Amino acid sequence: MKKVLSVLLIFFTMALVTACGATKPAAETTPSATAANNGKLAGIVMPTKVSQRWIDDGDNMVKALQKLGYKTDLQYGDNNVPNQVAQIENMITKGAKVLVIASIDGTALTDVLQKAHDANIPVISYDRLITKSAFVDYYATFDNFKVGVLQASYIETALALKDGKGPFNIELFAGSPDDNNAKFFFDGAMSILQPYITSGKLVVKSGQTAYAQVGTLRWDGATAQTRMDNILSKNYTTAKVDAVLSPYDGISIGIISSLKGVGYGSASQKMPIITGQDCEVASVKSIIAGEQTASIFKDTRVLAAKAAEMADAVLKGEKPVVNDTKTYDTGLKIVPSFLCDPVSVDKTNYQKLLVDSGYITADKLK
Ligand code: BGC
Repeated sequence: MKKVLSVLLIFFTMALVTACGATKPAAETTPSATAANNGKLAGIVMPTKVSQRWIDDGDNMVKALQKLGYKTDLQYGDNNVPNQVAQIENMITKGAKVLVIASIDGTALTDVLQKAHDANIPVISYDRLITKSAFVDYYATFDNFKVGVLQASYIETALALKDGKGPFNIELFAGSPDDNNAKFFFDGAMSILQPYITSGKLVVKSGQTAYAQVGTLRWDGATAQTRMDNILSKNYTTAKVDAVLSPYDGISIGIISSLKGVGYGSASQKMPIITGQDCEVASVKSIIAGEQTASIFKDTRVLAAKAAEMADAVLKGEKPVVNDTKTYDTGLKIVPSFLCDPVSVDKTNYQKLLVDSGYITADKLK
């Protein structure tokens, strides 16, 4: 009996080794992923290395797609639109089988997406929706309207507006007008703030409340700083700013520099409430130091995993999992989307959400 068992054991072990294949260790890629995807090139295009989030997004996408058995080509466009177009064209020429694109100017990829379509290459819009094209297959992002709602709700709670407190002075900033997300963030925020502006509980002394007046091209911190300098010198020589709606940590850094320049952040003149987005290391440090007040955590690990799943499903001829089929319109197509969930972060919860989850290591915040 013992002998029979050991013969069987040897037989099963051999069968297992053969089934798992000698080509790739099982931990790296599953056998079916390897068989289906080996050798297929996935092009990943990111907008800039200016903020850590896009560097993490790129790295996470590479990891996720390689794990599924793809070869990857990752390129950063340096916030330069022709660069990004050339990178995509190059990927098409190199025979990419799928493109994952986080655009710089979402309105500027119409022609190159036509080329991708002509070459039968599916396109996944990553985080930012590409518009003016019918050739965006799927979209992986966060709930962008909710991001704005969370930012504004933070201000609403911090100023106790629901309890009827006020009036308070607020200034408004939005993101890059060529980024489809920027309007969603702003609209989400204004869905909370506008009633208080209308009732006079929030006062925008600059008078700049329209989306067209508050944008920050390419999300540039220096541009925001200059605008804040002008707002402060024209409207706040005696009055004080109580809150600033900032859509992104890099913009908040510019706003904070401007405020510091006229004495905010001292014992006699505290910083206003200042929001942000992305939980960039420098800004989490600023939150801990009591300068920026809050940010929005968008776990790019989750987003990359979703986008990689989508790319893989499309290439296998399967339907990717989506949770929104109504909201995101390129102007020529409503794109099936998966929206991940953003979360508000401040001094009270950064440890749990960012450090304990491994998103930022504790040593980076020292
Ligand atoms: C992203 C934000 C980011 C901003 C600036 C937006 O498209 O959704 O997370 O803060 O770009 O990089």
